[in-house]
Order: sequence, then structure tokens, then C-alpha cells
Amino acid sequence: MRKKIAAANWKMNLTLTEGKELFTALFAEKHETAEDKIAVFAVPFPYLPMAQEMLADKKFAYVAAQNLYTKDSGAYTGEVSAAMLASMEIPYALVGHSERREYFHENEAMLAEKVDACLKNNIIPIFCCGEPKEIREGNTHNDYVEKQVAGSLFHLSADEMKKVVIAYEPIWAIGTGLTASSDQAQEMHKHIRSIIAAKYDEALADDISILYGGSVKPNNAEELFSKPDVDGGLVGGASLVAADFAAIIRSL
Ligand code: PEP
Repeated sequence: MRKKIAAANWKMNLTLTEGKELFTALFAEKHETAEDKIAVFAVPFPYLPMAQEMLADKKFAYVAAQNLYTKDSGAYTGEVSAAMLASMEIPYALVGHSERREYFHENEAMLAEKVDACLKNNIIPIFCCGEPKEIREGNTHNDYVEKQVAGSLFHLSADEMKKVVIAYEPIWAIGTGLTASSDQAQEMHKHIRSIIAAKYDEALADDISILYGGSVKPNNAEELFSKPDVDGGLVGGASLVAADFAAIIRSL
């Protein structure tokens, strides 16, 4: 089911106490979430139980991991598997954030395995894609993103693909204060939907949530989310400020 999603990515920020305070401040106000209008919080691994506890009585607010390893178990010191996350009833996980692609050398094949690990364990992957500045400037961004999507997702069956959420995050807009214009976001989201339609079918493509990420703030969220193919946002910096993320949830 295509949903409107405000997804917070805390990255490697906040102490446990600060995280709790952020949830408390954010939920001081009641948010109008619904089955098709949800909030997701990607928090650091050690904070997952705290986040579950803080969200336990909140409707349509879900916890996400920021990453996972490809294998179920074994001698992989420091890694966390999808099976472990599933055993904690974590419903979502980010896969292939550009910071992981850049600093941890995650490539298309590895991300395909991470997507598979999620789906095998009933975790919804929020698959991130997006081009760097030089690719945008060279006007080859559509092909670049198409390769990322096809390379890590197009081995999936239609039933599996239906479960995936996609986040288009142009790297030049992440944490930079530069935002893609709503027209640039719409153009890319439409392109992503069209390649999914060509590989699978129109109905499946129409059913997939495609989020925009890259300096989403309270003052641009409404305009971005008003575009027909933009189904919400993946939000870094502004998700660390309760009033800002509350405003972004309201913009859904
Ligand atoms: C992100 O972390 O995915 C992100 C989009 O960050 P920011 O909103 O700070 O640009």
C-alpha cells in the first residue's frame, strides 16, 4: 500500500537521554498519523529498545534500523543481522544510505543482499539512492539512479518489490542546506516510478512509496510533498529538532 511517510534518520547523533527527550518533546503534541500516513524513526542500534518503548502507544509511528548485515548469523564481529532485528520486531531498515555507500563502500551487489535479508525477515527496506553533484551537473542523474535501483532491486519478484520503500536522496542536498527543487524531486521520482513500471507493471509502480531526502525542512516540506510522486521525506538534520520534525509530519 502506497503510504505518505515522514522518516527520521538520526544518524550517529544524540545520547540515549537526548533521544528520549527528543521523543518526549515530539510527542508532547498529538500527530495525525494514519494507516497511510506514518512516521518512521531510524535510530542507532543501541537505542532501538528505547525507541520501541517510547513509541509503544503511538499510532502509526514505527522504529527503523539504520543498517544491517547481509548474513543471518556467524563470525562477523560488530555486525547486526536482519534476523536479529526481526527477533526484536523492528519493522523497517534503511538500506544503502549514501553515507554507507561512501564511507563503508557498500555497492549495488551488497545492497541487493541487504534488501534480500530484510525481505526474508519481514523487514521493510527503505532503499536509498541518489546522485552526487558532478553527475547532476553532467546531466546523467537519471541513468545513474536507474542503475542503482536496477542493480539492487530488479532481481526481486513483483511480490517482494511491492514491499520496498525507496528514498531518492541527491547527495549534493544531504546535510548541505541545498534542497532539490520540488520540480527536480518530482522529475526524478517520476523517472524512478517509470522504470519500475517498465520492469514490473504500472499498478505495482503506483503502489510504491518514494520519499525525497536532502535538507527537508519545515519551510520546504509542504511544497516537496505536494508533488504527485513525492510520498514524504527521509529527514536527517531536521529530525533532531522536535518542533521541526513535528512540522514535517504535519506537512504529509
Ligand atoms: C539524510 O540523512 O538522509 C538526510 C537527507 O539528511 P538531511 O535532511 O540533513 O539533508
